[in-house]
Amino acid sequence: MSKIGHYLQEHVTGEVLDTPEIRRYFATDASILTLPPMLVVYPHDENDVRKVARFSWQLAERNRVIPITARGSGTDLGGAALGQGLMVVFPAHMNRIVEFDSKSGSVTVEPGVNFGKLQQTLMTHGRFLPSYPASLEYSTIGGAVANNASGDKSFKYGDTRKFVRGLRVVLANGEVIQTGRLNKRELSRKLGLSTFEGEIYRGIDALLEEKQETIGKFSLPVTRNTAGYQLANVKNDDGSFDLTPLFVGSQGTLGIVTEVTLETEVHNPETTLFVATFDSLDAAQQAIMELRAMSEVPSAIEMVDGKLLETVAATNPSKVKTLMPAPYPAIVLLVEFDDVERAQRKAAKRAQKIFNTYAAACQVETELDKQSRLWKIRELSTIAAVQSTGHAKAVPVIDDGVVPVDKFAEYIQGLYELCRRNKLPVGVWGHAGDGNVRVQPHLDLSQIGGRQTAFRVMEEYYKLVIGLGGTTSGAYNDGRLRAPYLKALYGDEMYAIFEKVKQVFDPYNMLNPGVKVNVTLDDIRPLVREDYGHVHRFDHLPRS
Ligand SMILES: Cc1cc2nc3c(=O)[nH]c(=O)nc-3n(C[C@H](O)[C@H](O)[C@H](O)COP(=O)(O)OP(=O)(O)OC[C@H]3O[C@@H](n4cnc5c(N)ncnc54)[C@H](O)[C@@H]3O)c2cc1C
Repeated sequence: MSKIGHYLQEHVTGEVLDTPEIRRYFATDASILTLPPMLVVYPHDENDVRKVARFSWQLAERNRVIPITARGSGTDLGGAALGQGLMVVFPAHMNRIVEFDSKSGSVTVEPGVNFGKLQQTLMTHGRFLPSYPASLEYSTIGGAVANNASGDKSFKYGDTRKFVRGLRVVLANGEVIQTGRLNKRELSRKLGLSTFEGEIYRGIDALLEEKQETIGKFSLPVTRNTAGYQLANVKNDDGSFDLTPLFVGSQGTLGIVTEVTLETEVHNPETTLFVATFDSLDAAQQAIMELRAMSEVPSAIEMVDGKLLETVAATNPSKVKTLMPAPYPAIVLLVEFDDVERAQRKAAKRAQKIFNTYAAACQVETELDKQSRLWKIRELSTIAAVQSTGHAKAVPVIDDGVVPVDKFAEYIQGLYELCRRNKLPVGVWGHAGDGNVRVQPHLDLSQIGGRQTAFRVMEEYYKLVIGLGGTTSGAYNDGRLRAPYLKALYGDEMYAIFEKVKQVFDPYNMLNPGVKVNVTLDDIRPLVREDYGHVHRFDHLPRS
């Protein structure tokens, strides 16, 4: 093992490993990028994380920067779970549910806890965390918090940020802080601290005061956005202050999360599900807009398009045939209501009227097993995401843009044109209610031509999304892949504020550098891997 490895192993309780196999395994996440870490640490507890940070900070003070990347299950789609320095991997040991308060429904967990396991536990108490991502079975809460993950229920319930009440965070220099909303007096105490924590509170408070106008006037007309740093709710009008919303979604670039306290929601498994088919994108858009305006908010408005059904049917005809026979509609919407019984009945009546007006056909189900079968239509997207044509595989390069919902039809049409121009088959799925859709074009990244196409379609895609007033990321976050588009999205002034935020928390640029800010396309071009695969979906346990 390297000198650094030996040193760290002597000081931490968890394992430190740097074998070629380990470095190779952690050189990829679920993105198209690759970057091997110098070594991997499986922290046993918060103290181990502090020691790693302090070690790195002390070296940085002597002009040697060894970056730290926190990692959950490595299912990040934008390369944010990659780093060339010390990789701190949480699921091995720091995976406990620390406390659950069944009265309030609040739960405190370590970051490496599997999201799906936590969800199961909550459901046995009649509760759930509605911002779960589609990847919940194989990803962690730490990753969901760091990415500000969201999923099909986020249309009604919001993203992960909405549920995080407080965090324990190891700062760049190894200090630990507890976040939560502070009143004016508590803030004033923090501002007076002589520690790095004090410096951070002073830096962010001053920045928010100085740039109040720029931050206040910037807004995107979208209902999901995880691009950039979230500054809007740090300081409220009543003078209260909370760093939690800023850490959520910061992808390990501002601090390392060692404990998370979350609120949860009551879970109602008895729902009403509509599956409606549409002959045109415009009719679907009209229906979505009317569904959005309902006082009983749908708990999900999901979609797959006819082209996705076509592409999946080409390789798995029996799977599609039993769910939805050809000819395929332009679009299929799956719309769910989970209110209490009476409100749900009222909502269903109203929704039925909307579908009667705009849909070509519509089916409604209230029985769980029949609903599960219908949800399989939406789940066909998981087949689309692992399909291949020859050496070309479905790759996540243009898959998380969000547009204002009144631009939904224009967005999908633009995507079709983009794919036609680049001679790529297309199938679209996603969170239609939020104008957040996904496409994974088939590309052979082992060929220069395939890699060039990847960058060309990214360029065209983000131009389309930003041009429609949308955001580059609704759930997957900037990572490395989308970070180069952040300036075009937010403009120079807001981008400069993001750079300042990073400087305040991470003056030596040692926390997950190359993610979120200060990233160019030239930085990521050499990182594209030739063989895209899905290993981190299925296997994220430590190996020794
Ligand atoms: C098939 C598939 C479907 C997906 N569907 C969704 C979806 O529906 N919605 C969605 O939002 N995402 C989705 N994702 C993306 C990803 O799975 C989620 O964002 C997930 O929450 C990441 O969790 P993870 O444990 O894998 O994190 P990782 O990939 O390990 O890390 C993600 C980020 O979090 C940081 N991080 C991890 N732990 C910590 C910590 N303790 N402190 C600080 N930073 C930390 C990492 O540095 C990195 O920046 C999907 C991915 C795949 C492969």
